[in-house]
Amino acid sequence: MRLTVLGCAGSFPGPEAPCSAYLVEADGFRLLVDFGPGSMSTLQRFSGLYNVDAILLTHLHCDHMLDACSYIVARRYAPSGPLPPLPVYAPVAAPERISAAYGGENEPMAISDVYTFYALQPGSFPIGPFHVTVDRVNHPIETYGVRIEHEGRVITYSADTAACDQLIRLAQGADLFLCEASYLDGADNPPDLHLTGREAAEHATKAEVGRLLLTHLVPAWGSEALTLEAAQAAFEGPIDIVRPGARYDI
Ligand SMILES: [Zn+2]
Ligand SMILES: [Zn+2]
Repeated sequence: MRLTVLGCAGSFPGPEAPCSAYLVEADGFRLLVDFGPGSMSTLQRFSGLYNVDAILLTHLHCDHMLDACSYIVARRYAPSGPLPPLPVYAPVAAPERISAAYGGENEPMAISDVYTFYALQPGSFPIGPFHVTVDRVNHPIETYGVRIEHEGRVITYSADTAACDQLIRLAQGADLFLCEASYLDGADNPPDLHLTGREAAEHATKAEVGRLLLTHLVPAWGSEALTLEAAQAAFEGPIDIVRPGARYDI
């Protein structure tokens, strides 16, 4: 399996990174996990505009899904003719939200020519060659953490979440644990929204993962150095703060 980071800025785009988007590939199949603002640019730079076979949206906060609206134009009006509908696994409200964000007063609201939607609910299911498991995590709206398995290898992505046991279960024994670390340790952070670097690392240790990849830092408000230092105090394995274009092969 290969993971390519297309965007990793938390909550809004940063000066050097679009918002959350990750391409997971195996056997020539490309699953795009989240599609945050700006990531359609890095999709073209690090993969290809049409190099997507399915999309999974963890939740419908705009920093995780807005480029799914921009992508309608690219697929519907492709110079070679409209492309076939793309499967999109997402919370049940996704068709309405994406259509509303895309459409104007005199435009058709239907986007079924571009996307075929499958509503997420906790459980396991196949997407292409992957065995995917999702579960609800600790965030104010319907949000799913994701475990992606292929030939004995595992990538787990936290989505946006505060501390929760579901995340430890999803990450159990993962080779790569891509985990959000939005908040700084020691700050007066609101509850039930996001993790700090130390909390991400504590989840990594409990789940006995191979490698911790920190993401969703908020460049304008955070500190990579402090987040990394806090994480290193709570997880003994390798830790990276991810960047657009970073690739991990497992
Ligand atoms: Zn977010
Ligand atoms: Zn969110």
